[in-house]
Amino acid sequence: MKPEQIIEKIVEETDLEEDEVEEKVEEKMEEFEGLVSEEGAIHLVGKEAGVQIAESGDQALKVENIVPDMRKVNIKARVMNVSDINTFERDDDEEDGKVRNITLGDDTGTIRLTLWDEQTEIAEKVEEDDAIGISGAYTVEDNQDNAELRLGDSAQVKMVDDDEVPEVESGREITEASIREVRSKNAEYKVKGMIMDVYTSSPFYSQCPECGSTVREDDDGEYICEEHGEVEPDKALAMSIVLDDGTGNTRVVMFGDRARELLDIDEETEKEGDIEAVEKAAADVIGKRIELEGRARHNDYFGTLELIANSFEEIEPEEELDQIIEMFEA
Ligand SMILES: [Zn+2]
Repeated sequence: MKPEQIIEKIVEETDLEEDEVEEKVEEKMEEFEGLVSEEGAIHLVGKEAGVQIAESGDQALKVENIVPDMRKVNIKARVMNVSDINTFERDDDEEDGKVRNITLGDDTGTIRLTLWDEQTEIAEKVEEDDAIGISGAYTVEDNQDNAELRLGDSAQVKMVDDDEVPEVESGREITEASIREVRSKNAEYKVKGMIMDVYTSSPFYSQCPECGSTVREDDDGEYICEEHGEVEPDKALAMSIVLDDGTGNTRVVMFGDRARELLDIDEETEKEGDIEAVEKAAADVIGKRIELEGRARHNDYFGTLELIANSFEEIEPEEELDQIIEMFEA
């Protein structure tokens, strides 16, 4: 569904006028400080207003066109990876929960399928490189703003003919680059630079304490996980910094453990959403030099590319000096 159609639907199905919807979208984008695109913000506003937004119909979707909060998603894709099984304790249940992920790919990208409890048996029946078809799935937003596939009760998974799904290049390639050279959406880069700024005005979002999915707030102010129902959410970090290497600068988004590591704060502080601790730690981070690996993503709010950090290392001043000396000696 196109953003304009979603706005139309919100106006039709709720008491909101069009300008009110647009105002809410603006607010959403400001709240997330550019972490969410206009389209994403429209989805979020629609979701909060209780409007059913996306359906893929009968046609199989390409991975690149799958976004969070879709219903009735059909795809054909190749199994790229099957994770080990993880178990977790459930508050309300004697039996432990089980979760397992399958990474699926086609010629446009990869997406994670999360399997819960008895669904995890599906993972035992597939192998890497198998071509599978899924119908009637739905998507949620994972903790890195990506769509994640889930199987509802009506979803079906089956093997499909090998020639129905293109071969997928496996193994990711990381390009060492200057920041000015970061140009390709979805490509992985390794860059070095100095942290010039840290945005601290809303560094937290709410996530399900059991599965880590982003939770939504309903009209009564309760937090709802698609999988686990009403939950008491944990706060998780999603923090942006500005990295400059002399050729240019880029916004870098750091989630969870990477943000914690950079700020040098512990998991408890993160879960509590201690904003003062974050502000205090952020001041010490400015001026540090880091080497970072991340994926480039287009930020629709700013109209620029930014990096989502996969990992980073601080560059110690001595180490850098060694590198410079090595360069001269070579
Ligand atoms: Zn959950």
